[in-house]
Amino acid sequence: MPTPATTADVAAEANRRRTFAVISHPDAGKSTLTEALALHARVIGEAGAVHGKSGRKSVISDWMEMEQARGISITSAALQFEYAGNVINLLDTPGHADFSEDTYRVLAAVDCAVMLLDASKGLEPQTLKLFDVCRHRGVPVVTFVNKWDRPGMHALEIVDQLSERIDLQATPINWPVGEAGFFQGLLSRTDETMTTFERAPGGARAATEYVLTGAEAKAEYPDEWSTALDEVSLMDHLDVESFHTGSTTPMLFGAAVANIGVRQLLDTLVELAPAPSARVDADGVPRAVDAPFSGLVFKVQAGMDPAHRDRLAFVRVCSGRFERGTVVTHAATGKPFATKYARAMLGRDRDTVDDAFPGDIVGLVNATALTVGDTLHAEGSRVAFPPMPSFSPEHFAIARTTDTGKAKQFRRGIEQLAEEGVVQILHSDRRGDGAPMLAAVGPLQFEVATARLKQEFGVPVALDTLPYSLARRTSAEHVALLNGESGVEVTERRDGALLALFPDKWRLSSVERRHPDVHLEPLVAGT
Ligand code: GDP
Repeated sequence: MPTPATTADVAAEANRRRTFAVISHPDAGKSTLTEALALHARVIGEAGAVHGKSGRKSVISDWMEMEQARGISITSAALQFEYAGNVINLLDTPGHADFSEDTYRVLAAVDCAVMLLDASKGLEPQTLKLFDVCRHRGVPVVTFVNKWDRPGMHALEIVDQLSERIDLQATPINWPVGEAGFFQGLLSRTDETMTTFERAPGGARAATEYVLTGAEAKAEYPDEWSTALDEVSLMDHLDVESFHTGSTTPMLFGAAVANIGVRQLLDTLVELAPAPSARVDADGVPRAVDAPFSGLVFKVQAGMDPAHRDRLAFVRVCSGRFERGTVVTHAATGKPFATKYARAMLGRDRDTVDDAFPGDIVGLVNATALTVGDTLHAEGSRVAFPPMPSFSPEHFAIARTTDTGKAKQFRRGIEQLAEEGVVQILHSDRRGDGAPMLAAVGPLQFEVATARLKQEFGVPVALDTLPYSLARRTSAEHVALLNGESGVEVTERRDGALLALFPDKWRLSSVERRHPDVHLEPLVAGT
């Protein structure tokens, strides 16, 4: 048994952790950046081993057949590595725009996010949604402008987009010397040096870096250097506090595919991103990182290993030291939970983990009792964190099993998927319980749900898509009136919230116009 960590050990371990996720609109280069980050930490040795997209080497985090067939990453796993004396926990998020609910939950388990922008596209629809969620949840964001090796927008235009469209002030850490596509190197703002890069063939190794003094840069790249200096002089300097509270974002430039600017990103995370800190519990009381163990279940997954039908819960350690083998308490039921088989999650390679500290992610097997949003804590040191938010659904369908002999398995399967948060389940008085209503942020969630009901529960399922696209929170006294409106249906979510569903925004405005007193409240992403 490991010796109990002292409070000072735990605080020091927490302090050297950086737990973050890379988020972006699909195709901005998230998988490529993840590979490049891991390469820098030498955990993988050769780029291409993290994500198994088309033709590239097999992956750590892809596990579902469907996911492999489509070449998209649906599930989330965490990658842990040491860098410059720090422990980096990089949480993987799905890249597909359709499957964002999972990404949002990961954001509840990190201390910081890296927002990746494609230099030729700037802010894209999914980028806007994600920025919105980060702001709403108070997650600080570092912005990395990727693909600077090819023609794109002007760096200043991207800065303007952030400030004009989402009121976010960029405070560049470095600045490109040479426009996108004519990239010569990075100007470092802290010491006004210029770093140039010599690409390794195929990006298989980190690019070799050369640092030029300002005078050398001026001599070698006179026009580009003076333009870069002029431009960057217009920019605000970094302010750590406003970064941590979300009103500014440190910005960096690079090209993940060539491993350019990636070291600078890691250094920025280590130097500036917040370490794990006290997490506020459901009563509003902060739980200090050096308090006894507590952790938050942010993801539950079944069937990760085809050989064992197990259920795995991903837990973010919030306070204290997690020690494998100890019995912890499940806050929701007060029941004990044995952690004999805790794993450090690296996709298929499940390394057993002996201990973990705030910011780390542990996978718990046989986690049938755990659901997303649950809290675990050391025996006798009770804490419960606020429940995980559910998200404003945009797709709705009625699910039925086509095999009437399987009604029981169907109900069990649906219940399990709802607990894992694969789909949301809504109850409507208009419909029988045999045909539950599924709701999702993206339609791909429905496909995952039907595939899993078939594979894991042996239940064939048919879905009837419903013509709704908008949900609004309402109150009990307005249910009858809303249900009387044509095309509108009121449903109840598992947490008791009443959601009125509308086919489109025109129908919604028409109801709002005619009934200005009816309570119809937008669901912010993440509520
Ligand atoms: P994801 O969907 O966000 O995970 O994006 P991927 O990492 O799969 O990248 C999408 C495409 O952009 C791939 O074809 C990558 O090779 C390419 N890509 C990623 N980073 C860069 C970059 O820095 N420069 C260029 N030119 N292409 C890149």
